[in-house]
Amino acid sequence: MISVKLQDIDGYINAEQSTYVIITDMNLERLHLDELTSYLKGKNVSVLCYVVQAGESGKNLEVVKDIYSFLCEHRVDRRDCIVALGGGMIGDLAGFVSPTFLRGIRLIHIPILLLAQIDSSVGGKTAVNLLSLKNMVGAFYSPECVYINYRFLKTLPRVEICNGLIESVVHAIIADPELFCYMEQNLKDILELTEGKIDELIWRNCSVKASVVQSDEKEKGIRAILNFGHTMGHAIEGSCNYEYKHGQCVALGILGACFISEELGFMKEETTKRIKNLLMAIAPFADVRGQSWEQIYQFMVYDKKIKVECIRYVLPKEIGTVFIHEIQDFSVIKRAYFRVLQEMARE
Ligand code: NAD
Repeated sequence: MISVKLQDIDGYINAEQSTYVIITDMNLERLHLDELTSYLKGKNVSVLCYVVQAGESGKNLEVVKDIYSFLCEHRVDRRDCIVALGGGMIGDLAGFVSPTFLRGIRLIHIPILLLAQIDSSVGGKTAVNLLSLKNMVGAFYSPECVYINYRFLKTLPRVEICNGLIESVVHAIIADPELFCYMEQNLKDILELTEGKIDELIWRNCSVKASVVQSDEKEKGIRAILNFGHTMGHAIEGSCNYEYKHGQCVALGILGACFISEELGFMKEETTKRIKNLLMAIAPFADVRGQSWEQIYQFMVYDKKIKVECIRYVLPKEIGTVFIHEIQDFSVIKRAYFRVLQEMARE
């Protein structure tokens, strides 16, 4: 037990809404479930736990159906509340069950993975996978509370901290140059989860994400800038069969976007260098083996058979400013992709 200040969520727990259903995964059952269960029991509410397999394989409609059956068996009703304890996978799964069971029951998020604390738990997006298609079925649904505490991160392997920090670089480049400087200056302390440094980083990231999401809740416009680094990043991740960490692939995607921007004359070379230095200081990416351009292209346009006129790409101008650019000449993306691979091979 790492003793997290769970009493901070006291205001959201009450005995009238008697049952709290914790959804978590098998790793977290071992590491963090007891602490949360004891805290809730101490508040005199009933507690139920539903534990799913860790990893993406737990995020599908079969699992959703099993959770619905479990909720029915235990006569869970709208006064009750689902508590999502985990990373983005649990957040998406429990977050999808909440609006769809009984047309919506209460939801509390307790994200305990850095990536989930700074990104997926903010913004109300939920989804599960359908067949091999990612996030095909989902809903926008806001939890009544998101409880974030950096102390949960102490059980995380370092690779997951680095993975989360890449998303922080995304946030810094799209909207917060001070966050970028903060990461450059405090990286060692951030990586060591030093109190006062890591919590400040989480708070700054949540502010960036929340302000972008608030101005475009249903992803009709400006929210697309959060995809910075993800066009090429997702293509690398998918074409490599999810063999690499999301953060590693997005880091390469960030570099790719910088190279495109440089070639089109929107950004200076020294800005790319500064971004690359921070990415390399967070984690080495040299072990990513890229696929052929054809495979990358296929993932970028979803279906090669359909003629695509342009790709909407989020490009950086400087640290803190990005814009959406429609690229018609795909050869510029191809050149950037090969330059990314070359630079990585050199590291
Ligand atoms: P994850 O939830 O699969 O967690 C990764 C691993 O870390 C798991 O094995 C988990 O058990 C472990 N873990 C989590 N917290 C831990 C802790 N404190 N200590 C030790 N181990 C811990 O990983 P993820 O990358 O957060 O989730 C990926 C999913 O998130 C994808 O399905 C993606 O689509 C989704 N996602 C959603 C959004 C959104 O806005 N809804 C955004 C980004 C990603």
